[in-house]
Amino acid sequence: MDIADQIKTIEDELSRLNVTLIAVSKTKSNEEILEAYHAGQRAFGENVVQELVRKQETLPKDIEWHLIGHLQSNKVKYVVPFVAMIHSADSLKLLKEIDKQAKKYNREVDCLLQIHVAAEETKFGLDHVELIELLRSEAFIQLTNVRIRGLMGIATNTPNTKEIKEEFHELKSLFDGIKASFFQDDEYFDTLSMGMSSDYKIAIEQGSTMVRLGSTIFGGR
Ligand SMILES: *Cc1c(COP(=O)(O)O)cnc(C)c1O
Repeated sequence: MDIADQIKTIEDELSRLNVTLIAVSKTKSNEEILEAYHAGQRAFGENVVQELVRKQETLPKDIEWHLIGHLQSNKVKYVVPFVAMIHSADSLKLLKEIDKQAKKYNREVDCLLQIHVAAEETKFGLDHVELIELLRSEAFIQLTNVRIRGLMGIATNTPNTKEIKEEFHELKSLFDGIKASFFQDDEYFDTLSMGMSSDYKIAIEQGSTMVRLGSTIFGGR
């Protein structure tokens, strides 16, 4: 199937389930992104700041750009002017910098807190204790231009579906617990970004509201 057909098929499946599709376009050309765009897709995800900025400058302005990869504080200023959502906020230091830059542009930036759920050491993200500490800290409470929309996580890259299911289940439980304790009256805390091409069906069963699909849409990288 070509990119447009793939977008339509997946969007049809996801919209019935009330799950938002982020088309992960990292390493893909503007032409490939435009194929998805012309099929109606508007939300795209990139993981490298330089590539994200280049694509934002050269592609239609009504694209919603999601940063899904690790973000260094010194690069925050390049994405804050336009980014729709940062999925990978994983420290107070980073949130403070996003807040500072967002003030300059007089905007609020939607962020997800990235949680470490995978068994692999290399994946970024906060553990449960760090998350609670962050949410309770005075510096966090004082952020005015960062809007926490929910949590994001990446499951272990494994064929063991039971393990993946457990990790997503854990993340969903954490999401519900955090929402009840810290964001009860906050209508914006509504997003649980979990699921990639290999595991999005499991993620949706476990309560994902947003999936990030690359190879399923655009083919392998
Ligand atoms: C690359 C990437 C994806 C998409 O991966 P696919 O397996 O191609 O669907 C999703 N999330 C993050 C954080 C990524 O870096």
